[in-house]
Amino acid sequence: QKKVFIIGSGIAGMACAIRLAVHGYEVSIFEKNNYAGGKIYLIDQDGYCFDAGPSLFVQPGNIEELFKLCNEDMHEYFHYAPLEISCKYFYEDGVVINAYTDKNKFANEVEIKTGEPARHITDYLDESEKIYKNIGEIFLNNSLHQKSTWLNSNVLKASLQAKPSYIFSTFNDANKRKFSDPHIVQLFNRFATYNGSSPYKAPAMLQLIPHIEFNEGVFYPKGGMIAVRDALYKLACKMNVEFHFNSPVEKIITENNKATGLFVNGQALYADIIVSNTDIYFTYKQLLNDTHKANAILKQERSSSAIVFYWGIIKKFLQLELNNIFFSKDYEGEFNSIFKSKTVYNDPTIYVNITAKCEPGIHAPAGKENWFVMINTASGADINDAAIQSYKKSIIVKLNHMLQTDIEPLIETEGVLHPQKIEKETASFGGAIYGSASNSRMAALNRHPNFSKSIRGLYFTGGSVHPGGGIPLCLKSAAITSNLIIKNSSR
Ligand code: FAD
Repeated sequence: QKKVFIIGSGIAGMACAIRLAVHGYEVSIFEKNNYAGGKIYLIDQDGYCFDAGPSLFVQPGNIEELFKLCNEDMHEYFHYAPLEISCKYFYEDGVVINAYTDKNKFANEVEIKTGEPARHITDYLDESEKIYKNIGEIFLNNSLHQKSTWLNSNVLKASLQAKPSYIFSTFNDANKRKFSDPHIVQLFNRFATYNGSSPYKAPAMLQLIPHIEFNEGVFYPKGGMIAVRDALYKLACKMNVEFHFNSPVEKIITENNKATGLFVNGQALYADIIVSNTDIYFTYKQLLNDTHKANAILKQERSSSAIVFYWGIIKKFLQLELNNIFFSKDYEGEFNSIFKSKTVYNDPTIYVNITAKCEPGIHAPAGKENWFVMINTASGADINDAAIQSYKKSIIVKLNHMLQTDIEPLIETEGVLHPQKIEKETASFGGAIYGSASNSRMAALNRHPNFSKSIRGLYFTGGSVHPGGGIPLCLKSAAITSNLIIKNSSR
């Protein structure tokens, strides 16, 4: 039985562990924190519960697949339900658009609210589906760094389907060509933020992302996102994966260009295979002491980070849904501030997630709401208390105006997450929440491989390597990495 050590219990670390355990590997996870899940954890504060990190749940099939592989009934661990409205969009000029997950209903809503013909929406989403199925699925489900992948005829076919405009136009330029109404351009531009990128820099290929939300659906996991973490943790334990908490890995031990073990809590421990689920920059910099390779990682722009306020609100806002967006007036100005000047932007786009909408009385006391209030910000930005207060002020001014209310006296309790805290809690360089951004034409091909080219027996999984960040891609990363390990072990 081959022994595998995994560094980090992020969603990809746990999924990779489960997949390898199914194939008979003896798997141990070493986690520096005293809990599993990395960016997915729960804040329980003054009678309110908040999902600290991810909130939008899509592609549940990635999770279902893990339970099927283990021959376990997922419903004994975890339940989820589809949403009718994926997100409610509020604009400064008073326009409000409900993004129904039924695409025809959404297209009609857009036509009524903005005059953009419904047909433009359905055509766009049909093309989005084609790009996802014909190109995305191939590139997101395979290692791009194996000769065998490129010799596969499906990959060749997928590459030929990539129109030059998908690569040479920016996402914003492509959206502007397809829609005449600026509200709709902004709405679809926002999908670039799903992997922490700017629509003004990322290629039009990102048009594949809306397919996931509008054609496949958006879901609510019962109990919130923490239920996804809990389900995978329980499943991993059931498959005899061993978790070692409070166990920061100090070094990956290598002998003759082969990874042989780890230094943990001052002790050398040995295994046949090592998988790093920690940020690829820190894996090189701290665990392999390879500054040269670590610096090479930073040549690719990091994704955006975030500032999140967790607010206990002593009132119910009937006009809000589970997911709500309050758009900035000048979206390009906002992205310039995130990716160019890296400064505080005074009119940020605000995302408000309220799980109490789906489970009243559980995540917030009766008659109250748990608000997860997030804005995008530069990764690596040094956010001090003054900057946090300045962001808070901008958010409150904007919400007061757009919701015609006075929010501040309604905030009963508050927590804050910012880039330095994200870096400290999960060792993500600069607090980037999705690893590297897609802010260049070839970004998708330039993410780090899921294996080391120079150290045998060393693999990588998670948001900072191929195919990228966000829960669905992290779960795909786990599948790619475990498949490589299984394939290489059988040689
Ligand atoms: P991580 O979660 O980054 O975990 C890595 C783990 O490794 C951590 O537990 C860390 O403690 C551990 N570790 C690091 N170094 C060491 C070491 N030396 N020794 C031992 N352990 C170590 N995604 C979505 O899909 N939808 C969303 O709505 C969404 N919103 C987000 C909002 C926020 C505020 C944040 C922060 C993230 C969001 N994401 C979202 C992104 C998503 O959370 C991540 O892409 C995903 O959870 C990353 O998983 P991972 O497996 O890469 O590991």
